[in-house]
Amino acid sequence: MIDQILAYNARFVAEKGYEPYVTDKFPARKLAVLTCMDTRLTELLPKALGLRNGDAKIIKNAGGLVLSETDSAIRSLLVGIYELGVREVMVVHHSTCGACHMSYGEFKPHMLERGIPEEVLDQWESKGIDTWLEGFHDTEASVRKTVAAIVNHPLVPGDVTVRGFIIDSVTGALSEVV
Ligand code: ZN
Repeated sequence: MIDQILAYNARFVAEKGYEPYVTDKFPARKLAVLTCMDTRLTELLPKALGLRNGDAKIIKNAGGLVLSETDSAIRSLLVGIYELGVREVMVVHHSTCGACHMSYGEFKPHMLERGIPEEVLDQWESKGIDTWLEGFHDTEASVRKTVAAIVNHPLVPGDVTVRGFIIDSVTGALSEVV
């Protein structure tokens, strides 16, 4: 697959396929979107929000979550805010998210099967891997928790607007979580 992508890429560049996408690093709409890596959202989310190349910083991870004060999503938001002029943040989780039901209990047998040694898993269990890999079970609650983690973060300034949403993974319909 990667080789196919490389061949496609060479043609894309040679045919100047990039020309409609040329922009700069500053988000034109002063917006950041924290969302899930789900493949259903790859094209749907920007299309459904009317976002074009250059409009917004789109930050993705499994679920669109903030798990700790030093989470990489927070780091990215801080870069967006202090370096790139982000003024508004949308947290967008989605219906039937794969990260909803994931659990370490389910991963563990697969990890063992794929050659991760039991002792390594023991070490990670003592570091709290079960909480780290635990899914969320209530999408609205996870949006609220994520919005709160950003709003209450000591390094996020009070003049940044943060709002939470759930997007329908099929239709792209947004509903705000208030
Ligand atoms: Zn998801």
